[in-house]
Amino acid sequence: MAIGKVYLIGAGPGDPGLLTLKGRDCLARADVVIYDYLANPLLLDYAPATAEKLYVGKVRGNHSLPQEETNALLLEKARAGLQVVRLKGGDPYIFGRGGEEAVFLREHGVPFEVIPGVTAGFAAAAYAGIPLTHRDVTASLALLTGHDHPERKLSSLDWEKLATGLGTLIFYMGMSNLKLISDELIKHGRPAATPVAVVQWATLPRQQTLVGTLKTIAEDVARAGVEPPAVIIIGEVVKYREELRWYDNLSLFGKRFLITRPRAQAAGFARLLQEQGAETICIPTIEIAPPEDLRPLDAAVQRIGDFDSLILTSTNGVEAFFARLAANRLDLRNLAGVQLVAVGPKTAAAIEAHGLRPDLVPEKFQAEGVVEELLAQGVAGKRILYPRVEIARTLIIDKLQEAGAEVVAPLAYRTIRPKGQEEMIRRLLSAGELDAICFSSSSTFDNLLAMFGDELKTLQGRTEFFSIGPLTSETIRKHGFAVALQAEKWTIDALVAAMVDYYNKNRGQN
Ligand code: SAH
Repeated sequence: MAIGKVYLIGAGPGDPGLLTLKGRDCLARADVVIYDYLANPLLLDYAPATAEKLYVGKVRGNHSLPQEETNALLLEKARAGLQVVRLKGGDPYIFGRGGEEAVFLREHGVPFEVIPGVTAGFAAAAYAGIPLTHRDVTASLALLTGHDHPERKLSSLDWEKLATGLGTLIFYMGMSNLKLISDELIKHGRPAATPVAVVQWATLPRQQTLVGTLKTIAEDVARAGVEPPAVIIIGEVVKYREELRWYDNLSLFGKRFLITRPRAQAAGFARLLQEQGAETICIPTIEIAPPEDLRPLDAAVQRIGDFDSLILTSTNGVEAFFARLAANRLDLRNLAGVQLVAVGPKTAAAIEAHGLRPDLVPEKFQAEGVVEELLAQGVAGKRILYPRVEIARTLIIDKLQEAGAEVVAPLAYRTIRPKGQEEMIRRLLSAGELDAICFSSSSTFDNLLAMFGDELKTLQGRTEFFSIGPLTSETIRKHGFAVALQAEKWTIDALVAAMVDYYNKNRGQN
């Protein structure tokens, strides 16, 4: 069998967006991914679902797999003819024993490539607002390990050269030796007032930055209880943080939200929240499934040209409709002359993505808005197709029929409750680490309630409930829960804007 190949890929410091494009492409072709403690597991989503994923990092404070075992694993997988991705935190060749792995592979005749990554020190500086070099302050930079090598004690370093011969210093793995490091630097000529920043969990929403001086930092860290992983940045450049910090100033920085939308729609929402510095966890409480019987929808779709109007009230409805249009071997031309009504901007955008422009998007993005505007237009004798959801309200059907329209409302899709989500949600809620759960429809709440029943009250703790609009809020309140925040405009964008406002206001009060 032909031997496989090993790709040593830098996963970057944590923020998944900091993986290189080449690394991502390479992950997408992997048969096996062998990853570390500091490589963000979210990156595994870029590997094929069928790829084997093996964790070789630390488990709860215990040691990682011994290096020999990791090496043996790389060899075994490569010899099996597989494309092996060795995903390492930061850059593979900076303090991650990537050099040792490469030498081992080379000695065993295994072909390999190295794809660099953004190393933690550089990323921590960028996200903490510290330019590592600055013309006015320093012209040199050194990366150092603060970890004792078995045969080379840290205390035996040439501290005088380090203290006086270099500008900015970044220590990796230095937290347990922080006192020794700062003492030695002062003793050998660095001013005790030199600013120091300790950046923990850099580039992730739980990033924490502590600033002190060489004299104070060890005590500051002990007092604040900051633990590894963290990098220590020493030098005058640290002062720039005051004016250049940005990441931890983002409106939703440090907040953690649970998104309960179906997976296909969660991504856009999650990205908007992440752009504001939030951490998002997506566990859908609803899933979209086709109706059990497609015949009524198909029958209506086949005679689409006979209708005066087509009302679509969700992106799922849009996708279901166009899927059946294609399945029935029809196309956009069959919609000529049919008035297209979209309930809101997102639905309108979904229609536009299919190459059609809606004729009507009501001012009020709700069923009420659709009814009002259609009634104003006059519907008596009109034939209207309204592909609906099982659990939707009947308002549109009732009101339009009352006004003399013929409304055909076949089921377009249904929502079902995904299995196996309870445990994860329970764990998150009982750990008390969720700031809020975001509900994007009544059914996302109903299903959560169905999962936990009365237990939800005790589980909720200090987790708040955010709602996308009045109907969802009503559902939440009806069951005796408080709605901390509701979007003004019934869209995800409006919900994100409301969340930003909410925390900005709360911050103002602190
Ligand atoms: N190859 C990695 C470093 C591995 S050594 C890289 O290039 O970044 C492990 C050390 O890296 C940790 O002890 C810590 O000092 C640092 N580190 C890694 N990820 C970090 C993060 N997100 N925030 C702060 N420090 C981090």
